[in-house]
Order: sequence, then structure tokens, then C-alpha cells
Amino acid sequence: MTVNPSGWRPSAPANEQGETHTVTGNRALMLEEPLIFEIGSTEETGVDFAEAPQLPTRLGGLERNREIGLPGLSEPETVRHYTRLSRQNYAIDLGLFPLGSCTMKHNPRLNEKVARLPGFADVHPLQPQETVQGALQVINELALWLLDLTGMYGVAMSPKAGAHGELCGLLCIRAALEARGDKREVVLVPESAHGTNPATAAFAGYRVENIPANAAGRVDLVALTARLGPDVAAVMITNPNTCGLFEPDMKAISDAVHAAGAFVYCDGANFNAIVGKVRPGDLGIDAMHINLHKTFSTPHGGGGPGSGPVVLSRALAPHGPLPFAAKYLDGSYRLIEEENAGEEHPKAFGRMVAFHGQMGMFTRALAYILSHGSDGLKQVAEDAVLNANYLLRSLEEVLDAPFAGSGPCMHEAIFSDKGFAHEINTLDLAKALIDEGFHPMTMYFPLVVHGAMLVEPTETESKASLDEFIAAVRSIAERAKAGDQSLKAAPVYAPRRRLDETLAARKPVLTYREPEPAAAAAE
Ligand SMILES: *Cc1c(COP(=O)(O)O)cnc(C)c1O
Repeated sequence: MTVNPSGWRPSAPANEQGETHTVTGNRALMLEEPLIFEIGSTEETGVDFAEAPQLPTRLGGLERNREIGLPGLSEPETVRHYTRLSRQNYAIDLGLFPLGSCTMKHNPRLNEKVARLPGFADVHPLQPQETVQGALQVINELALWLLDLTGMYGVAMSPKAGAHGELCGLLCIRAALEARGDKREVVLVPESAHGTNPATAAFAGYRVENIPANAAGRVDLVALTARLGPDVAAVMITNPNTCGLFEPDMKAISDAVHAAGAFVYCDGANFNAIVGKVRPGDLGIDAMHINLHKTFSTPHGGGGPGSGPVVLSRALAPHGPLPFAAKYLDGSYRLIEEENAGEEHPKAFGRMVAFHGQMGMFTRALAYILSHGSDGLKQVAEDAVLNANYLLRSLEEVLDAPFAGSGPCMHEAIFSDKGFAHEINTLDLAKALIDEGFHPMTMYFPLVVHGAMLVEPTETESKASLDEFIAAVRSIAERAKAGDQSLKAAPVYAPRRRLDETLAARKPVLTYREPEPAAAAAE
């Protein structure tokens, strides 16, 4: 079937701004692109295949009897299709990516180069261990760095994302409690927690209860201590928290939690703010995941891959999952797996993943750590905090900053929609940022702040790029306060305008259905 051999399909939406339309739908360098199924021809292919040999079928009459309907494009058409699509996206390599809580920082190309070395990129997880000593050494060295930076006792390298690390930590806690015959069933989570925290606790089989925040945006220590008791297994706390604030009571919280026989889980996704400055182990934390794909660069967004190693206290380390890399006295490395775990790690709760974790992310993170050195990592945290405070102080006159009065923020600054004209909201500001060429900040999270806007500039932004972003936000914020209705139409310059994001999330259309021919549809 040939849909449209020329590949062109003018599909630009009618422009309410009265701009002239083009025949192609393109607007100069902004190129429209149909779905891959709507271009090319299923008769065509970019490759010449030899005729398939006629083999006896073993499908018992279930052979496909129609065309499979794969798109058919030549190689240059394919390259153009994906290149055009990629240009409609935003990336950290294009500009400041202000997403709060996500630490979208520059990914040094050196990391990429190292991760692509054949000795790292082309190894197979089932290769004999003596042929992958270098890869095992990378896992082990990175593990040692993470232990050093956090002041913890053990580390599980295999979890493949932050949320996966949370699950790993809670499973360690569950194993430790079960080992002492303790059936606790509640996990306490602050109101401002990242959504993955309560989700993880529920997934691990615990009942989740909220701990309120105090007026300064921190965990309410009194309310927390009052709730502790023999049914509480763990408290999950993010530090620095999702309002961009350090929890100064962390040690007191840990002491109280331990006194009540429970464990402290720390969501360490915001480690970027404190790396080299504070060791979570000194704060009494029992388990904390580190998002390698945030703190130690490594590309993320677009669905991964991520990597979420979990550092563990002395009490939890014996229960950490298999496998893990260990260095032997003769200098060789070995994976401790099921077969030998009985002698060397008998209390492991089990496995998180089929193999050993996200090798490419380990290599990138170690390259990042080694190229910064310990002094450089400390500077990462200092510069990230400085940049966030520069943003906070530069925007607090135009945007309500609910916690600005309680002192400096950490790595991210939070604002609210207080003071916007009646019909204008956070979403409108975010959409207008797209017209200014920025990815929007994190919106409506955390829930404890009305119409929240959470901005994390990271240490990789220069003062010039921060100033450009500040100028854009200031101008939009002023329009929002003045009730400028044109904000409701934003974005006007993006390839698509306002989409029904709720519908797209609730009812995703994941398969292509050929539109019915007009005549047939009319019958
Ligand atoms: C990113 C993040 C997570 C989850 O990490 P993933 O790698 O996306 O699973 C958890 N908590 C906080 C505070 C985060 O910022």
C-alpha cells in the first residue's frame, strides 16, 4: 500500500496568529514530520534482502496471511525522518533544563568516550569472569567511591533507577526486620516526598502514612516522633528535601527512629546538593539510593537508562542483594553470585536484576568522579547551591518564594503561583517558557506548595545562561500577574500547541491504525 510516496503532507495547524501558511507545513527550519506509517511505501525498503528460502512451516496454520505493514523507507528517508523528529525535542545540549528534582546537568563527552571503549561497551554479562576483570574493577572502584562519599558500610550496585534503589533499600529493611522476627507494617513518608517513595513502600507491602511538614517546609519532628512506635518499619526522608531545603534535624530524626526500632531510608536523589559536603552515614541513615544519572551526570530523560545504587548501613549491609563485585587479596575481582553466596553473603534478600546492573552508567559515573576528583565533587555541590540561590534571589520579587524567608535554599528553588491574576496559572507560565526556548521547570510538585514551580539549575549553567532564563521567567511572571490573556494561548511557536496531556496519558494510542478511506467511511 502506498500512502503518500512524496513524503510531504502539509499538516501545520491553522495558525490563529494570522501568520502566513506554507504549502509544506514547514516553517523555515521548523520542519513538520508525519508519522513514519504515513510516509514512504510498504513496497519499499532501504535494504535488499535475499528471497526467503521456502522451508516447511511449523506454525500449524497460524502463518501470517497479510502484509505485516512495516513502514518502508529508503535509508536517507529514514535518517531524515528521525532527524526531523529529534529537532522537535528539547535537550540539555540545547539549553538550560530547569527541571527541579531531576538534576539535568551537562554530560561531559569524556564519559561517553570512556563508556564506548570496546572493553566496556562490548562485554557480555555471561563472559567468564577472568575475561572481564576491568569491568568488575570499574564496578568495585565506583562502589568504593560511593561508600567514601556517603560514609556508609555497604553498597548494592545493581538497582537500575532511583525508584528501583528505593525498592532495594526497603527489601533490605524488610529482610533485617524479618531476621529478628519483627513484623512491622508501616512506613512513614513526609508529605513533600517524591511520588516514588510512597509507591515503593506500598509495593514492598507496607502501609504508608504521611508525616506533615512544618511551616518552614521541613519534616515536623514532633509529629514524627509522636507517630513512631512498634508498628513502624521505616521512615523515608528526602534530604535535601523536595522543597530544596536541608533537613537540619536529620540526626535527631535518625536517633528517634532507631530508638523506636525502625530504620531510616533516605531518598538520595538530591545528593548533588551535598556531595563532598555531608556524609549521609554521619546522619544515621540506614539506606540511601544514589541516582548516578543525576548526581554523576550520565544522560537521562527520555526513559533511561538510569542507575540507582543503594548505600547501606552496617545493620542492613548483610541483607544487600546479589550479585556484587568483590576484590580478593591476590588483586583479582570476582562476582559473588548465588553459587558462592552461601559462604560469603548468606543473608542476601535475593536479586534485583538478571545481571550486574547498568554497566554503561557505572563507567560514565566513575569517569565523571575521577575527572572531578574529591575537591571537584565538593565544588559541584557548592556551585549547584550557589546557582540555585542566585535564581531564588533574582526571582523572589516577581514570583512568590514560600520558603525564601527561612534562609538559603540548597540545589533547587521553589516558587508558587501566589499573586498571579485570577485565571492565570503555573501551567500558563510553563507553556510560555517553551516559546522563550526553555524546557519548563517541574510544575505542581511538591504538592505542599500551591501551583509549585521547582527550578534546579545545576552547577553546569553559567551566569550568562542563568541571567537569560531569569529574564524570561521575570517577563512571563509579570505578564501572569498583570493577567495577560495571551499566556493562555502559549506556546505559539512550538511545533504543536496545547495538547490534551491528560487524555494522552490516560488513553495512549500506541498502535497505528490506517485511516479508513473517505468513501468507505461514509457508507
Ligand atoms: C528522580 C527522583 C527519584 C526517582 O528516581 P528514578 O531514577 O527516576 O527512578 C526519586 N526521588 C527523587 C527525589 C527524585 O528526584
